[in-house]
Amino acid sequence: MADTTTYRVTATALNLRASPSSGAAILAVMPSDSIVAAVADCDTAGWLNVAYNGAQGFASSQWLEPQSAGPSTAASPPAPDDIVPAPPNGERDQDLSKLHPLVRQAITATVAELNQAGAPFQVFEAFRTPERQAYLYAQGRTRPGGIVTNAQAWQSYHQYGLAADLVLFRDGAWSWSTAGADAALWTQLHTVGESHGLRPLSFEAPHLEFAGPDWRDLEQGNGFPPGGDDTWYDAVSGAAARWTAAGGAPPTPPLTPGERPPLPAVDPLAAPD
Ligand SMILES: [Zn+2]
Repeated sequence: MADTTTYRVTATALNLRASPSSGAAILAVMPSDSIVAAVADCDTAGWLNVAYNGAQGFASSQWLEPQSAGPSTAASPPAPDDIVPAPPNGERDQDLSKLHPLVRQAITATVAELNQAGAPFQVFEAFRTPERQAYLYAQGRTRPGGIVTNAQAWQSYHQYGLAADLVLFRDGAWSWSTAGADAALWTQLHTVGESHGLRPLSFEAPHLEFAGPDWRDLEQGNGFPPGGDDTWYDAVSGAAARWTAAGGAPPTPPLTPGERPPLPAVDPLAAPD
């Protein structure tokens, strides 16, 4: 690989990890056709040390095509059939159909009850892709800005379609105000959410999630509520299929539409958002 200094990403999305291991922390998700620079020009057991967007890390070499040797005639590795590209990482998804039906109904009822009582909450974000979670996790770490989440990809209930964030919406604008009488509105949000079977988090006021197990169980495919439907399943399994294609070793929740697993025991140790 002498003289090679840049590579092109040939996968749909490729993880940039902190160390040459599929279990290492994800620093960034590099989209297809990204050009990355070699940091140290050697392949360590299938991993290359590269720089991307100011971050240095390791990526699976099978999805990196050397660029300095001129135009390549090699075909990109075939992608699995069922992979839908991820939407842009900066895009919030407010589509409640991607939530599990139990959570969808609970969120809808919570919003209706709050609005009826004069608390102007709306759904700010619902399902969140693992790519977007990784992007948000990078903020304040490998990207500029303040830290907005402690959860990496697949560590948030949002990736399983089991959480939504509700924020005040007044005069056409989102508001996180806790000034004056607004403080009580967030308490009201949590009280009403809990009455519909949802769990708030102490460290993230807008967040309500299914009162289920630790995310580590969800990551293993355990503890999902019964009664899943196709739109929910497609969102979660589609993201899992895409993540597998990214060259890492992601979890793939073994979900089956119509499956009726037993309700999980509630774990008081709440998952990170
Ligand atoms: Zn949230």
